[in-house]
Amino acid sequence: MNLQEINEVKILLSTTKKIVIVTHWSPDGDAMGSSLGLYNYLIQKKHKVTVITPNDYPSFLNWLPGNDKVIDFSIKQKPAKIAVEQADLIFCLDFNSLKRIETLGDEVAKSTALKFIIDHHLQPEDFANYMLHSIKACSTCELVYDFMILMDDKNLLNKDIANCLYTGLMTDTGSFRFPSTTSKTHHIISELIDAGAENAAIHNRIYDDNSEDKLRLLGYCLAEKLTVFKDYHTAFFSLTLSELARFNYKKGDTEGVVNYALSMEGICFAVFFVEADDKIKTSFRSKGDFNVNQFARNHFNGGGHANAAGGMSELSLDETIIKFVSLLPEYKIALCSAKLIA
Ligand code: 5GP
Ligand code: MN
Repeated sequence: MNLQEINEVKILLSTTKKIVIVTHWSPDGDAMGSSLGLYNYLIQKKHKVTVITPNDYPSFLNWLPGNDKVIDFSIKQKPAKIAVEQADLIFCLDFNSLKRIETLGDEVAKSTALKFIIDHHLQPEDFANYMLHSIKACSTCELVYDFMILMDDKNLLNKDIANCLYTGLMTDTGSFRFPSTTSKTHHIISELIDAGAENAAIHNRIYDDNSEDKLRLLGYCLAEKLTVFKDYHTAFFSLTLSELARFNYKKGDTEGVVNYALSMEGICFAVFFVEADDKIKTSFRSKGDFNVNQFARNHFNGGGHANAAGGMSELSLDETIIKFVSLLPEYKIALCSAKLIA
């Protein structure tokens, strides 16, 4: 955003507006933290704000302030469509391609509202009037904090906003351990704690909320489902629908599993394939300079960040894995050199 755009947005937000906030499919901590952080900021400025998710999100995010106001488009299409249709302004948070919100994207594309992207993923698409975008930001929550500062509204930072933003900063940095973590991350965290963020309680609510089924599914993945290709510094897990059913799978139960493969010594590329009703969802993680955003874009119709990306496959699970394994020789040099940097 340049100075002129900042002033335009300040003027826009100086009178009551109908605002919709949307975030990406299968929202994570940063998606919900940034959306509800922005929600709790904008309602203080007397706007009429509706937060819409394309589908459901894990229950360990249900405590976020404002959660009870969220509309799940996959369940409540009508009120969501009306809110999008009537909106003056639509904020698109933690994504930058309308295909990331699936069929909700058709409604957003149709809407005459001004569109505003706040995001930190690579290669943003050009569908918005305003964009606060930085791939250097550790999270979209960092950018929502920046947005409040740009709007000269730091004084509106309250405990609810602080709890929301802390959540996204924490989850998207892997609890402040990924290379995206900077002194700015910690500076913002310090401001959030001063504003009332319940840091220790948030870690408990997010990470100590495992069900027995979730832990046993993780144990099963580690004991039975890990495949390692040492020569390619690569490891992956896969799960079928029937395996998920065996462990009474609930949304969020496989979150973080892929990181266990990446935590193995000598591994710089980790993948998780999980069967959904109509496709295979893939999660890619890497260490060093092996670019999984590019890998996901090239082969699995996806994208994301250089070290964390996602995608999908319309092949069967077995065929998807065969395709993946057959791609590895092409990347052998990149995989071997990336390991040295990690
Ligand atoms: P996850 O593997 O946790 O689903 O996603 C990892 C990262 O990649 C997240 O930042 C997520 O927003 C992004 N991502 C996941 N799936 C896709 C996809 O299909 N397309 C794009 N562009 N990004 C994705
Ligand atoms: Mn994010």
